[in-house]
Amino acid sequence: MPEITGVGVSPGRAVGPLVRMPDPVTEPSRDSRLVEGADAEAEAERIVAAAARVRDELDARAARAHGDGKAVLEATALMAADPTLVGAAQQKVAAGLTSARAVWEAADEVAAMLTSLGGYMAERARDVADVRDRIVAELSGLPAPGVPDRVEPFVLAAHDLAPADTATLDPATCVALVTAEGGPTSHTAILARALGLPAVVSAPGVLDVAVGTVVLVDGAAGVVRTDPTADDIEQVRKVAARARTFDGMGRTADGRRVQLLANIGDPTGVAAAVEANAEGVGLFRTEFCFLGHTEAPTVDEQVTAYRAVLAAFPGKKVVVRTLDAGADKPLPFLNLADEANPALGMRGLRTVTRSEGVLTDQLTAIAAAAAAEGAEVWVMAPMVATADEAADFVARCAAAGLATAGVMVEVPSAALTATHVLASAHFASIGTNDLSQYTMAADRLLGELARLNDPWQPAVLRLIQLTCRAGAELDRPVGVCGEAAADPALACVLVGLGVTSLSMTPRSIPDVADVLRATSYEECARLSELALVATNAATARGDVRTQLPVLAGLGL
Ligand code: PEP
Ligand code: MG
Repeated sequence: MPEITGVGVSPGRAVGPLVRMPDPVTEPSRDSRLVEGADAEAEAERIVAAAARVRDELDARAARAHGDGKAVLEATALMAADPTLVGAAQQKVAAGLTSARAVWEAADEVAAMLTSLGGYMAERARDVADVRDRIVAELSGLPAPGVPDRVEPFVLAAHDLAPADTATLDPATCVALVTAEGGPTSHTAILARALGLPAVVSAPGVLDVAVGTVVLVDGAAGVVRTDPTADDIEQVRKVAARARTFDGMGRTADGRRVQLLANIGDPTGVAAAVEANAEGVGLFRTEFCFLGHTEAPTVDEQVTAYRAVLAAFPGKKVVVRTLDAGADKPLPFLNLADEANPALGMRGLRTVTRSEGVLTDQLTAIAAAAAAEGAEVWVMAPMVATADEAADFVARCAAAGLATAGVMVEVPSAALTATHVLASAHFASIGTNDLSQYTMAADRLLGELARLNDPWQPAVLRLIQLTCRAGAELDRPVGVCGEAAADPALACVLVGLGVTSLSMTPRSIPDVADVLRATSYEECARLSELALVATNAATARGDVRTQLPVLAGLGL
């Protein structure tokens, strides 16, 4: 059976006709000038008409969208309706430029002006670029950039997805994602898991599949089949119809408790976590509340943002992670310098040496939010490399009145010295996304290295085992909050290694819960042994999966 292999990053199977994401709009050449005798007035009018069509289309899509996607579309529609851009472009046509070039240059000027104003206005510069691309596509007769607007279900194939594309992706119609590029912790992968969409990345062959071909995407196996049989299709439809619910108490078949928690970004992620009946939040990525901010948020601003999350989990655990700025998540107010190797540079807790006040303010804000709400607040620091850093962080938390302070284990040195780290930290939460990246020396954003950057790598599993052993010795909880926790087979292995809680995108909770519920702790321990002795990640995954028939039964 013809199939394309890539790296499976979000489990599940889906079928649909393949739709290609249009190529990004490119800048019209600098010398795109009107030919002699051209009707400049008519050319300028084309811009008005194109902008109006773009606005109408965005308005229509916004009316059908929800949540973040709706907000993004509405903001872009507003920008398309703003006469500043169109007016400036028309003047450039009068000066001899073609309409497409005029729009491009006018948008550059408007974006620069907004950026110079700073704050909220600077954040709108991105909307200008989006509107520019849409108007230029309209003027050039090209398909509108971004996720195609379809009514019928489809499988989306793309080079990769940008953060702005993803907000408008509607899981009711887009049933799976396949990208030529991207790694397992790329934006596409994280979004796919958040939306519960099967996804395969790093599968360049998908760009050769004819548009409209019905394909079957298997997000666990990392395979795209281009000629699925009628039986395959029927099986996928049956599984898709299965109700997925979680009763709010994670446990193995023999009753060993494993807390199943949600990962959330900014407060908008709360609803999905509550709806999934998560036992709490195992990772609240606070930096997502302030991405793109050019100035540090005030304590009051932070208290408001954190309270919005804590309020949704009265009596439940919420693990608040302090700002993890740097590398793929730049916070302009913290990351001052361009670095040659940002993933190995000033990120996470390390920024405290440069901007101590930011951490102090954040801990003050978390303590105030915790005092005002009824959630059980735990705090943890990202990118901790040494026991001294862990002790220093715990002391700062105590000074701020935060009693339960822990660390993320995502740098191999922290895992290797876990007994020292956990001597002061009250708990550890293993960030498998970064732990894989740093253990394997493989950039998590690079699709070509996806096979190395895999939490099934036995080397990564051994570091997890070391951390769990230290936790057991010192009686400290050890959770996993990296994407590995969302893989139901790997979740069993992690539990077998001694992990006491799993935190993941809310959509994955029911599947992980079902597989754990069908597997005893003893079985989990046996599976973890199998994975540890495997010679590579693919063998570890394959050996464990064949021992878990429940996966196939659930279509995972
Ligand atoms: C991780 O590294 O596994 C993690 C959970 O943190 P982030 O993905 O935000 O770096
Ligand atoms: Mg991390």
